[in-house]
Amino acid sequence: MSEVMRTYDELEQLVQKTYTNPDIPSLRMAFEMANKAHANETRLTGHPFISHPLAVAYRLAEMGLHLNVVIAGLLHDVVEDSDVSIDLVKETFGEDVGSLVESVTKLKQNIKYKGAERYAENMRRMFLAMASDVRVVFMKFADRLHNLQTLYGQPKHKQQRIARESLEIYAPIASRLGMSEFKGELEDSSFAYLQPQEYERMKNIMDIKVREKGAYVSRIIDETEKILAETRISEFQVHGRVKRLYSLHKKLNKYQGDLSKIYDLIAIRIIVNDVEDCYATLGLLHQTWRPVPGRIKDYIAQPKPNGYQSLHTTVFTENGEIVEFQIRTVEMHELAEYGVAAHWRYKEGGSHMRNTRWMEELAMIQKELASKKDFMEQLEIMKIDVFKDRIFVFTPQGDVIDLPEGATPVDFAYAIHTEVGNKCTAARVNDIMRNLDTTLQSGDIVEITTDKNRRGPNPDWLKYTKTRHARNKIKDATKHTVKGWFAEVLKGREKAKK
Ligand code: MN
Repeated sequence: MSEVMRTYDELEQLVQKTYTNPDIPSLRMAFEMANKAHANETRLTGHPFISHPLAVAYRLAEMGLHLNVVIAGLLHDVVEDSDVSIDLVKETFGEDVGSLVESVTKLKQNIKYKGAERYAENMRRMFLAMASDVRVVFMKFADRLHNLQTLYGQPKHKQQRIARESLEIYAPIASRLGMSEFKGELEDSSFAYLQPQEYERMKNIMDIKVREKGAYVSRIIDETEKILAETRISEFQVHGRVKRLYSLHKKLNKYQGDLSKIYDLIAIRIIVNDVEDCYATLGLLHQTWRPVPGRIKDYIAQPKPNGYQSLHTTVFTENGEIVEFQIRTVEMHELAEYGVAAHWRYKEGGSHMRNTRWMEELAMIQKELASKKDFMEQLEIMKIDVFKDRIFVFTPQGDVIDLPEGATPVDFAYAIHTEVGNKCTAARVNDIMRNLDTTLQSGDIVEITTDKNRRGPNPDWLKYTKTRHARNKIKDATKHTVKGWFAEVLKGREKAKK
């Protein structure tokens, strides 16, 4: 993976070109602050450190994420490397930028790698940060990608660790979020370090194929454009896409190394305006070229689990050559490249992602990662499960509460606030009324009903509370109840005396 150096001017130009009314003074100030904070620092590659935050910010701007995210990208290493505080960032750039920088900085604390527990703690934190604000994931991915692109500067053992972690943890998360662009890049740049020979072999295969088929594929693209131009389909884009190396490696393994079984080394992608045009295009292709039986896939009617949508078909063209077509709408294309980030692009306001779909996704990712036993054993550093004994539940506003397994609404209520705990009377879990002793599951959305007239917690709650915090609070409050009762008793006696 090659490293592209970006200057501030390039970043500003990109922002000017693709954003409406961007706050350039803030962008420039963020750059100047970062430049000062990282002055005289060099990366292991020998480049000035500022090249790193610039690359990260550029990437975030390319994705069209809100300018606050880009600004936070410039500042993401500033708190760690200088005397600039989060408070100063908040004062200068506002609460939103400040909280983004804060989340990313928190992720890095304790990054010093020591044994399994530390590692697990780091991953758990990353997950929490992700869950509370998805934009932090994009920053983390952009940061990680640039670190991978400049991995050659690191000592060997670190290269291996970072690459493995990227391939086994970051890439699956990107995939689950449907961010195929990030996933592909994370995979390929890690692959180059983990299996350099196999990487080279894949690269050679693709180089040869592209040389062999390049001219042929361009002809088919021209022909496809001509066919489409003669129809009522007014807007379309046709281009070739080359298979990624790690994805080729996996597919080759699946087919026992038989290259002839792989039809999508070079595919042709057609992007049109709406679903109707997708099906119309498929029909046109099949009228021109005979489809290969069993290779038509309608992922529009039946999307893949991560939400991917497209029509795929493989056809015989001239001289028995075979080519795969992928047909999709602009919207599907954006979703396929950027996944959940697609909804965030070009949106005004620093909106946090707070919806049920996202929460469901997170719960799924957590389960998947937690079940990756073989990977953890293989690594030997993760003998303990990252997410073992932990669940993540959400407030109706989308805030994440991290609780031990087996926790109940009472634990949840106390995690929010002592008063919410003390006064809680009922719980709605995923919109259904549940008893207070219900065991919560990851991904649950919990809403607590309180009664301000309630005197305090029920000592019975101790039977089904898991967190020390809740238990202590209940014990405290129950103590008061005894005191109150005793005061009543004393009062009663006084009265009796009179
Ligand atoms: Mn960084």
